[in-house]
Amino acid sequence: MKYFSTRDRSLRYTSAEAVKMGLSRDGGLLTPCEIPKIDRAFLESLVNERYQVRAARVMSLYLTDYTEEELSAFAENAYGPEKFDTPAVAPIHTLDEATHCLELWHGPTSAFKDMALQMLPQLLSAALRKTGEEKTVCILVATSGDTGKAAMEGFADVPQTKIMVFYPKDGVSAVQEAQMVTQEGVNVGVCAVVGNFDDAQAGVKRIFSDEGIRTVLAERGYVLSSANSINWGRILPQVVYYISAYCDLVRDGKVVMGEKVNFCVPTGNFGDILAAYYAKRMGLPVHMLICASNRNDVLTDFLRTGVYDRKRPFHTTMSPSMDILVSSNLERLLFDLSGEDDEAVSGYMEALAREGRYEVSDAIKAALTKQYWGGFCGEADTSATIARYYRDYGYLIDTHTAVAANVMEQYRRTTGDRTPTVFVSTASPFKFCDHVLRAIGEDPAGDGVELLDQLHETTGVAIPRRLAALKGKARRFDLTCEKLGMDRVVLEFLK
Ligand SMILES: *Cc1c(COP(=O)(O)O)cnc(C)c1O
Repeated sequence: MKYFSTRDRSLRYTSAEAVKMGLSRDGGLLTPCEIPKIDRAFLESLVNERYQVRAARVMSLYLTDYTEEELSAFAENAYGPEKFDTPAVAPIHTLDEATHCLELWHGPTSAFKDMALQMLPQLLSAALRKTGEEKTVCILVATSGDTGKAAMEGFADVPQTKIMVFYPKDGVSAVQEAQMVTQEGVNVGVCAVVGNFDDAQAGVKRIFSDEGIRTVLAERGYVLSSANSINWGRILPQVVYYISAYCDLVRDGKVVMGEKVNFCVPTGNFGDILAAYYAKRMGLPVHMLICASNRNDVLTDFLRTGVYDRKRPFHTTMSPSMDILVSSNLERLLFDLSGEDDEAVSGYMEALAREGRYEVSDAIKAALTKQYWGGFCGEADTSATIARYYRDYGYLIDTHTAVAANVMEQYRRTTGDRTPTVFVSTASPFKFCDHVLRAIGEDPAGDGVELLDQLHETTGVAIPRRLAALKGKARRFDLTCEKLGMDRVVLEFLK
């Protein structure tokens, strides 16, 4: 299968090239030229398989220049017992007969980013082999907290790669910062940026598009690539868990094969919910995709009006991984809904860059309304939802998951739809101890990793092993730079 750019359908690449490049040269996102179909027999054949087998089978439909043996080996490495704390990998926690929570945080960094970032480095290493690349790939990451750690954990000590992570100095949780600055590995670097996430992201994009820097780095034997969810190698492993979740529900008698379900996804860059959309397009029985935002509600407005308008205040919230005003992966959805109209997509993206706003066609609006419902949840409601799920179900959820739970309830109240619904849990509550403690009525005593014990002692819930181990770990990185100093940090890192 070939991949083309959302801004130019005439550019075509193999899957290995698409994974290696990360982003198309024209600024578009690389996207499969066709969406493979799955049928009932395919799903039935997966119902009694392990997660690893499901992953290899689903990914092989898209990565046609990788062998099944390669993909099986990658899946065993990515999702095995050294990495994930449950053999189910992505288990479902059922709250009542129509309400299920898909837990995606059982990997090494306790956030759902592991689901893709334990796989991407292996896909990329193979892509370097397959394309005869001799240079070392340097992955540049701007992170709002979870991606940076998950990417370093995935790429640490992977041959022919280096990874440099930039995070906003005061924009990540204490546990997230501790996770990043204690990262081990000879090929990793971490730097705090004085500014917010959008500043760090803009800095990375600037370095990517700077021909001068690219030339210097090429002379030193480096090429740049991305581990953000603009890379197709990030999206595809996420398609797997929607299909896997459906198989689990069927296996456990919670839905019957063919019955439709809804997915409700806490959304930032639109990668996770886009993966759910691909699963639906492939033929998974899905009714509605519910897009949950926090106070940064640009997507809620877009799904309701067809107008994307980023000109609004940026709010820093207790669900920082969703604090984002430009959701990059929406571009892939627009491309698909417009009938792969690369000119229309280029037009929208130019308008966004120029005026901070665009309005989609009536045809796209109609398609959006049919498949998506958007809602948002403010700070007080996020806390109240954590408290209520803890009290009513004895179930402790993090701040991002709480946004999804709350918006799922809004959807049900507004529409009366009783379709069985899976809301997606994207992080362990232990990554956001202070907010979670306050939400359940406790006073956080101390800060940073000290709060792990307090949350454990209050709730009896076990601390994820790797987070507990942070307490004794030495800080390895102490670098800070100004927004405009990021390129110097990169040039120094790749000396
Ligand atoms: C990244 C992240 C999200 C948002 O996912 P997108 O794919 O960017 O929409 C939600 N919750 C958590 C905990 C995350 O780390």
